[in-house]
Amino acid sequence: MPDTPNPDRDLNPEISPNQLPAPLIEPTPDVASAVTDTTGAAQATNELDVLSTIATPVVAEKKLPNWPLRWLWIFILTLVGFYVFALPEIQIAWWNYRSPNRMLPSFLQLDIVTRSVLRLLESFVVAFFFAVGSSFGSFLNVVAYRLPKNLDISVAGSRCPNCNQRLTFQENMPLFGWVSLRGKCSGCHIPIPFKYLAAELLVGLLAVWLGVHELLSGGINLPLRAPNFYAGVVWIIFYTKWDLVSYALFHFALFCILATQILTLDNQLAVPKRFFVFCCFVGVTLSLCFPWLILVHSSLFLPGIEMREPGQLEGVRLEWQQSTRISVLLGDLYSIAIAVPAAIGASLLCRHDKPFPFSMWLGTFLCLGIWLGWQASLCIASVSLLISLPLAVFQLPTIRKALYMSGIVLGVTVLHHGLWAVLVNALLNQFSANAMPMQ
Ligand SMILES: [Zn+2]
Repeated sequence: MPDTPNPDRDLNPEISPNQLPAPLIEPTPDVASAVTDTTGAAQATNELDVLSTIATPVVAEKKLPNWPLRWLWIFILTLVGFYVFALPEIQIAWWNYRSPNRMLPSFLQLDIVTRSVLRLLESFVVAFFFAVGSSFGSFLNVVAYRLPKNLDISVAGSRCPNCNQRLTFQENMPLFGWVSLRGKCSGCHIPIPFKYLAAELLVGLLAVWLGVHELLSGGINLPLRAPNFYAGVVWIIFYTKWDLVSYALFHFALFCILATQILTLDNQLAVPKRFFVFCCFVGVTLSLCFPWLILVHSSLFLPGIEMREPGQLEGVRLEWQQSTRISVLLGDLYSIAIAVPAAIGASLLCRHDKPFPFSMWLGTFLCLGIWLGWQASLCIASVSLLISLPLAVFQLPTIRKALYMSGIVLGVTVLHHGLWAVLVNALLNQFSANAMPMQ
């Protein structure tokens, strides 16, 4: 390497080979060898310089280890490892400590390999739920941004809104894409808003919650329906229980509607009327085609109808009257009767600087009634309105209040969904207890 510059020599042309850094020169007795040695040393320093001059740009070009992504993987693997290997041991120890004389639950009696395989399967299935949910969250982001602006929502692929660079498959992955990009566009380095990640997380977690609590549990939260005796990944997913899958998908659609409303309001945009018209149309069509999707019969809890045989209520409960097309239509009519006053209340609560479209709230509560039945809609609407009452006091922009209230409605819906069976059973028992003395 003859032409490579030596910074030492360039800075100080008078420097002689003999003044080179001491450790590189071995003091030698004969001159000739000293000369060769010094040239060798000079060559060595040159090589070092070359290395350093080459190395700097190489380091800059080479991808730095992506620590956020690594931490994410470490976190996920630790979580899975804990769930698969450590948690069963803790459960066994806890069981032996609490009730040493009783037999272990059947899952904990399995040998460690079977147990770990089952738990690993569960982890994969939960990861799958999250992946599907967060992909939907990613899509709903697009819907929430483009629908109010009358833009096309059929996306060929995500692009950076600033530099129009197309996202690669890996960058488009929910959660992992955002983390691997460290929240910045790879082309123009403009920050990608955190809300994109938040939306993916929100819908992903909703999907996991539904998948675990409604699907893998064997429908333990569904009212008036006996939960599947054999539940869990193997019995629900591998020997697919299609009715449960349909319930979970149907209810996931409702959660997606509520999430879209939140995301749109977060963009400071009003939810268009046609969005709710479309959702209501889909809900009514689906429930008319498959009336069993509506779990609570529209005449249940209507005064004077269900209290005829309180003594047999316990036995009847599990094979309760299934919804028919007529009862679904009647239920939709009752839902309108509940949605109108609820929507008036909600728009009054949100009113501050300008009257907020009443139609959005009408659509929200109507969707709740169409999807879950008027009973659920009544419960969710009244609880959400009660919780939102303090909003009337604050001097916030209308759209902000509507955003908070939508969040409350989603939260109450999730809570209601978890306690659905408990609530319906408690009410049935209440009714039967009230009816008992009459006999
Ligand atoms: Zn960009």
